[in-house]
Amino acid sequence: MRVATVRITPIAVPDVPLLNTKGVHGAYFLRSIIEIETDDGLVGVSETYGQARCLFGLQQAADALTGLDPFNLNDLARRVSDALPDAGGINGPTMLTDHKAVDVIYGAFEIACLDLQGRALGRPVCDLLGGAVRDEVGFAGYLFFKFAKPSDQFGDDLFGEVMSPNALVEEAEALAGEHGFKSLKLKGGVLEPELEIETMLKLRERFPDHALRIDPMGAWRVETAAGICKTLGGILEYLEDPVRGMDAMAELAAQTDMPLATNLVVVEFEQVFEAHRKGAVQIVLSDHHYWRGATGAVTLGRMCAAAEMGVSMHSNTHLGISLAAMLHVASATPNLSHDCDTHYPWTGHDVVEGERFEFRDGRLAVPRGPGLGVSLDREALQQLHALYRENSVKDRDDTEEILRYIPDYVGKVPRW
Ligand SMILES: [Mg+2]
Repeated sequence: MRVATVRITPIAVPDVPLLNTKGVHGAYFLRSIIEIETDDGLVGVSETYGQARCLFGLQQAADALTGLDPFNLNDLARRVSDALPDAGGINGPTMLTDHKAVDVIYGAFEIACLDLQGRALGRPVCDLLGGAVRDEVGFAGYLFFKFAKPSDQFGDDLFGEVMSPNALVEEAEALAGEHGFKSLKLKGGVLEPELEIETMLKLRERFPDHALRIDPMGAWRVETAAGICKTLGGILEYLEDPVRGMDAMAELAAQTDMPLATNLVVVEFEQVFEAHRKGAVQIVLSDHHYWRGATGAVTLGRMCAAAEMGVSMHSNTHLGISLAAMLHVASATPNLSHDCDTHYPWTGHDVVEGERFEFRDGRLAVPRGPGLGVSLDREALQQLHALYRENSVKDRDDTEEILRYIPDYVGKVPRW
């Protein structure tokens, strides 16, 4: 079995104006759908970021995969790094962290290769990652402050404007009611800290037994965050990236018992050592998209076990192929200590054939079919590809996007 063809299809998926500390989501989110076809006719699929630099890297490396044995992931890694000698980082200038293009591109192709391996063997991907330690995976309801979707943007809105603690609690009631989530995560760093504290206290009152977390994405200075840790001590299961940078996280960690989590200061293996040495972080968020694929994400889990850190899972806006890969990774990560993040309930679209993934009590079953256990809906793929072609925006820039709502907005992290 050798790789014959690689197809990369960029898509644009209608999104809603979800806020974070650097701005707001645009009318669409962008993804790349990857198909790797072998000389014996098997097709492995994958999904990753769709911004221009990622797409360019995928296209640049795709030709180098011809003739690859999908079981030889070391050869895949060598081919990708040889094809992208000076690729650098993948994120735009207003993002709060960067990921190496070679890690993201390798990871995207690795998932398709694992899908091929599983299809060839008739086994699910989690079996190739060391085996399933759980058959279903718990997810957190992902709560956002948001604007109402402007009438000139294509696609449906959800919940209208949500810009106050009470409106956010209503959003949480709706999401938890529909999907049964037992954990709730608020994307913070949007409103004044006092209002976000009030929101978390109201969530605690309304959901006395739920695990709660907030992620202000570095929006707070150390003194601000230290005060918030005192107020929310015992309320949160963890606080995610309250302050910006490894040293600020370490400074805060020295002043509080609140567990600190991150997907911003530990995004490469070397940083696990630094975070451990500095005592900066207690929980690392895994994500196969930038942790060098599913095998990298499982390796991260092992490193965290050695460093006595917990593991949770990060989510970017995504569809069902990424969700299936997340499920296999979560299933094969023994020390996954928290419910995973997912944006999936925020989109009604997918490129996966058949029924959408359906949460039961906030949990999803790990697919048991061969490979990732999902198949591509080519008609849906072509529809979303057509939206990509019509859409002039080819990169994500939340800070640019928020200017249409707040013309004098000035990006600032930390802000408070
Ligand atoms: Mg985060």
